[in-house]
Amino acid sequence: MRADLGIAKDLLARLVAFDTTSHKTNIPIIAFIEDYLRRHGIESTRVPTPDGQKASLFATIGPAGVGGIALSGHTDVVPVAGQAWDTDPFTLVERDGKLYGRGACDMKGFLACVLALVPAFKARKLKVPIHLAFSYDEEVGCTGVRPMIAELGQTLPRPRLVLVGEPTSMMVVDAHKGPMRWSVEVTGKAAHSSLPHLGVNAITYAGRLLGELARMEEDLKALTPNPRFDPPYTSLQVTEIEGGTASNIVPVACWFGWEIRRLPGFDGMDLDTRLRRFAAEHCLPEMQRAAPETGIKIDITNEVPAFVADPKSGLVPLALKLAEQNDTFAVCYATEASLFQVGGAPAVVIGPGNIAQAHTPNEFLHVSELEKCLAFLGRVADWAEG
Ligand SMILES: [Zn+2]
Repeated sequence: MRADLGIAKDLLARLVAFDTTSHKTNIPIIAFIEDYLRRHGIESTRVPTPDGQKASLFATIGPAGVGGIALSGHTDVVPVAGQAWDTDPFTLVERDGKLYGRGACDMKGFLACVLALVPAFKARKLKVPIHLAFSYDEEVGCTGVRPMIAELGQTLPRPRLVLVGEPTSMMVVDAHKGPMRWSVEVTGKAAHSSLPHLGVNAITYAGRLLGELARMEEDLKALTPNPRFDPPYTSLQVTEIEGGTASNIVPVACWFGWEIRRLPGFDGMDLDTRLRRFAAEHCLPEMQRAAPETGIKIDITNEVPAFVADPKSGLVPLALKLAEQNDTFAVCYATEASLFQVGGAPAVVIGPGNIAQAHTPNEFLHVSELEKCLAFLGRVADWAEG
């Protein structure tokens, strides 16, 4: 057993104990990490939100100046609400070679490995700096990392390469899809449900829009597939819906959310235009003839670019060598990798744990994945020492 495995497990237990569900503050976990780094002689920089409730943390080990390799991860986790856990999600439990806890897999396991190796990084004569870049609000649309990325090359050094430690079972991921999300608000006119001709039924018109989205989904499936991805097409899902007031009222409002997960190279704005045109031609004229105050509001609420690793950066061959792997993979979930890349810091995704365990009740991380990650990060340090 590696000597640093025990340290990584202890750190993971500490990190899991902070309830960093995205809608809560992450300042306590950031303060813990800051303090840990300071005890190892490393100063770090917070990039806080305007209200001070959340912050990213950036730190550099090794020579100052531009360049270097960044180890990047998010500190937030998805909610446990509505999930049936067998153990307390915020108490790390080890059983049969697995570590159970919210965030154990996604992605405090990676953060624990990075922190466990900080003393080793510090002890090396690094020629190339190793940066730590820890964010918040990744689970609500990769929003928290953006202000930190905006500081790269400004108040923070710009890493030459970024390893994003999302769960990939320690495989090298060099491409992912890019989500785009919309909110649609249909405003009708309320009336007694026995007098429907006096109202405008918001749910009925929302239904028409949902029908168009279903046709759009079928059209997307018929486009040229990209076999690197499963499913091999840009997927479309209606994800949330709310509407109506009571069983005897013509509903005045209906709201729904929908998303696509774009293949690299697919521009979602065509779909945005198509839904708006459908609303303008097949819903709004009728609705407004009945009541001018009715309407349909369509907003893009979130967008993360699709990701394809930059072939010029040399990061993919390096990551494969350090991971002792031969092949790269593409995944359908989004990460901060595309945002780093757009921000001028080429990235790949590699981290411990299987994405199938992320976001689930009884989320776990195999101890063997922690060991693999520690060994991988050790090879990163060897490389950085030159
Ligand atoms: Zn994650």
